[in-house]
Amino acid sequence: MDPGSHRIERRPNATTPEPPLVTPTPPNFATLGGGALPGDRTPTYSNAISQRLRAMLPWSTADDPVTMLIRTHRAIHPSGDGGLLRRAYSTAEQMHRGQMRKSGEPYITHPLSVAQICADLGMDTTTLVAALLHDTVEDTKYTLAALESDFGSDVAIIVDGVTKFDKVFYGQDAEVETIRKLIVMAGRDVRVLVIKLADRLHNMRTLDARSTSSQVRIAKATQDVLIPLCDRLGIQALKRELDDWVLRALSPDGYARVIDYFARRKGRTKYLAEIIAQVNTELDQFRIDATITPRERHLYSIWKDTVAGGHPEPYDLPRIIIVVDGPDTDCYAALGAVHGRWRPVPGRFKDFIASPKNNLYRSLHTTVIGSDDTAVEVLIRTEAMHRTSEYGIIANFRYPQHAASFGPAAQAEQLEWLHRLLDWQGAATDPAQFLDSLRCALAEAQIIVFTSTGRPVLLPADATPIDLAYTLGADVGHRCVGARLNGRLVPLSSILNDGDVVEIMTRPGQRDEFDFDDNAPAPGPSVEWLQLVKTPHARLHISRWFSDRKAPASTIAHKVRLGRAAIGLALRQKERGLASDLPLLRLLPHLGYPDLETLLVAVADHKISADAVVETLIALVDQTPH
Ligand code: MN
Repeated sequence: MDPGSHRIERRPNATTPEPPLVTPTPPNFATLGGGALPGDRTPTYSNAISQRLRAMLPWSTADDPVTMLIRTHRAIHPSGDGGLLRRAYSTAEQMHRGQMRKSGEPYITHPLSVAQICADLGMDTTTLVAALLHDTVEDTKYTLAALESDFGSDVAIIVDGVTKFDKVFYGQDAEVETIRKLIVMAGRDVRVLVIKLADRLHNMRTLDARSTSSQVRIAKATQDVLIPLCDRLGIQALKRELDDWVLRALSPDGYARVIDYFARRKGRTKYLAEIIAQVNTELDQFRIDATITPRERHLYSIWKDTVAGGHPEPYDLPRIIIVVDGPDTDCYAALGAVHGRWRPVPGRFKDFIASPKNNLYRSLHTTVIGSDDTAVEVLIRTEAMHRTSEYGIIANFRYPQHAASFGPAAQAEQLEWLHRLLDWQGAATDPAQFLDSLRCALAEAQIIVFTSTGRPVLLPADATPIDLAYTLGADVGHRCVGARLNGRLVPLSSILNDGDVVEIMTRPGQRDEFDFDDNAPAPGPSVEWLQLVKTPHARLHISRWFSDRKAPASTIAHKVRLGRAAIGLALRQKERGLASDLPLLRLLPHLGYPDLETLLVAVADHKISADAVVETLIALVDQTPH
C-alpha cells in the first residue's frame, strides 16, 4: 500500500470548495516505515497486508485475525510465542463476546488492534498478551485472579495497572487520579504506559464514532498528558500519529489545509531522489557508508511551524535523513561532506549528539542550499541513535540484540525524571498539585545552568536560584540565603537563563558554640519562596519544612500573607506597587470576592493567579480618572 495515498484523496477543485465528506486520516505509523532501519526485520509488505486486513475486520476470510498479529510479532521476535497469543485472544474474544464498540464493531476488534499497535512497535510477547486482555478485568466478568492463574503474574500486573486507571473520565479529579496511577504503575513496569498509549492511539483512530464533544474532550486529554508523556519517553514513532489525530480532531481546518498543501506540492519526490543521489556520490568519495532516505515531516509538525505560527500557508522544506553505518564520528564526517558541497544556511545547524534532548534524542540537524537554490533539511545520525530517537524507552524491546547500546544505564537515565516524579507524587496530596508536577517534569522548555563548580543542572524555563538550590539538595535549599548570577549578587527571585553560572550562598548548617548572635535570621526557607519556585520538588520541600515545624502554610493568616506576597511580586514584575490596600478593596466586587482576606487566600491557594489579579487591578487603576 502506498503510505502517501491519503494525501491525494482530496482533489482540490476551484468550483467545489466544500470540504470532502470523508476527511482523510493520518498515516498509520507502522505503514510509513519512518522508523525502518537498514536491516530492520520488519518486512514492510507484512504491514501493508496488516493494514488491508484491518480494513476488512470483522473477518470473513480463512485467515483468522490473530495470524496477522503473530506474523508481525515473529518478524521482529522470531522466538515469540504465537500459541500464547492465540490463547490470550480466544480468552479475550470469549469474554468480550456480545459487547460492541460505539462504531458497531465487535468489541474484540479494539484489544486486537491495540495488540497489533504494540506488535508494530516491536513489543515483547508479554505486552501483546496483556494488550489483548487489557479491558477484560474492567469490562467483563473475568477476574484478575483468574487472569493471573491463566497468564502469569507479569501479565496480571500490567492488566491490573491499565484497569485501575482506565475507569476514566468521571470529573476532573478522577481523571487526574487516573493519570497519577498511570505514572505510579509505569514506574514499576513501563509496558503499562506503552499499552496505555497504544490504547489511546486506537481510540483516536476510531474517534469518528464518538460525538463531537467527546472527540474534543478525548483529543484534548491526549494532547495535555499522553503526547507529552510519549515524547518524554522518546517514542516518536507513536507520537507522530497521535499528534496528527489530535490535530484532525481539534483543528479540522488546519488539518485540511496541510492535506491540501500536500496535494498541491509538486515535484517533491523527484527533487528528493535527485538530492539523495548527489549526497550518495558525495559520501562515497569520503568512504562513508550510509543509508539516505526522504524524511517527511508529519502533518502536525508542518501545521505547528506554519499555520499555528500565523504563516498564511502551510509550508515545509524537503528533508532527508542520513543514517551512517559507522561510529558517532562518521556523523561529523558526513556533515563535513554535505557542508563541503552545499552552502549551509546560517543558524540552522544543531548538534544534538553533543547535547542530547531531554528524551535522549541525538542527531545532527542542518539546512543547506541544494541544487535549484532550494533549501534542504538534513538529519544525520548513527543506527543506534536512530533506534533511540524512533523508539526511545522501548528500543530495547524492539532491538534486544542491540540492548547494549540502550542498556540499563541509558534507560535508568531516561526514566530518572519519572522516578523523581514518583518520589514527589507520594507527598503531593492535592491532585492539581500532582498535575502541576507532571507538567513541569514533561515541560519542553528547559534550561541548563552551571553551578560555581561547573556542574550542569537541568531546570525548567523561568526557574529561580531557589529552584537550583533545592535541586542541589533539600539541605542546600533550606540554608540558601543569596545567589550570585554570573558573578553578580542578585535577588533570589531572579529568573535564570540558559547558560548562566549560578553560585548559591548558604548559611552554615549548624550554629557553632561561639555563635551567640540571636538577631541572626531564623534558619530555613521563607514562605514567600513558594511563589518564586518553578520546580515541584522545591515547592514540596518548602511546604514540608513549614508543616514539619507546625508553622503550616495552611493557616488563614499564613495564606493571607502568602497571597499578599504573590500580588506584591506580580506588581513588581510590572514595575508597579501599592501604597495602600484601597485599590485592592475597590477590585473586590470586580473579581467577585466578599472581602480582601478571601481574595488573598484564593491567590495563595492558586484558585486565582496573582497575575490575573494584577492585570485587572492595573486596568482598573488606569481607567480611574485621577
Ligand atoms: Mn481499551
